[in-house]
Amino acid sequence: MSQRPVTSFASLSLPAATLENLSRLGYTEMTAIQAASLPPALAGKDLIAQAKTGSGKTAAFALSLLARLDARRFAVQALVLCPTRELADQVTTEIRRLARAEDNVKVVTLSGGVPLRGQATSLEYGAHVAVGTPGRILDHLERGNLALDALNTLVLDEADRMLDMGFVDDIAKVARQCPAQRQTLLFSATYPEGIAKLAAQFLRDPVTVKVEAQH
Ligand code: ADP
Ligand code: MG
Repeated sequence: MSQRPVTSFASLSLPAATLENLSRLGYTEMTAIQAASLPPALAGKDLIAQAKTGSGKTAAFALSLLARLDARRFAVQALVLCPTRELADQVTTEIRRLARAEDNVKVVTLSGGVPLRGQATSLEYGAHVAVGTPGRILDHLERGNLALDALNTLVLDEADRMLDMGFVDDIAKVARQCPAQRQTLLFSATYPEGIAKLAAQFLRDPVTVKVEAQH
């Protein structure tokens, strides 16, 4: 007899409103990478998660960072680094979909190739989550538009692609401006040598989860 793994979101300690939201979105079961990464992520562990594209990695980190978010506090509490503007837009959309409506979570997208001014204005109005490309985020940090002292979660999404695109120095500079006391979540489709180095530098005692093939 084979034992079915637990794949229900209800097995996680998520607020009832989040569970209702998930079922409304048609997320009836966790994908394999969500089932593997959400328990340690929600427990506050640093995480290296590897699974192929389309496996639902965004919700894995989005649900975790949203669970830790204090919506009454108008400060950036989570930062997600992405390789491209398109991916940053997708991540922003997914975080907004997964956030509880009553929390009114403000997610700001900070990508290169878009005028700085509008992004700076969004930051001035107050944002809970910032998502963007490393160079542009660094730019906002250097201009004093973005403060990270209230940050509790740093996500490196599609870390392998960010390395391929030569963002390693920018990632390092951003990570150094984050509070040492934080959770760092690294998501990647592949696990080349460079990712191990990056993880060793910026993650603390990480849990590694890897999902092969299906999902
Ligand atoms: P990845 O980052 O691993 O490439 P995404 O996070 O972009 O994958 O997810 C791929 C698609 O799967 C998205 O359209 C997302 O809405 C959907 N998805 C994610 N998790 C679930 C789930 N538990 N049930 C149903 N659909 C899901
Ligand atoms: Mg992804």
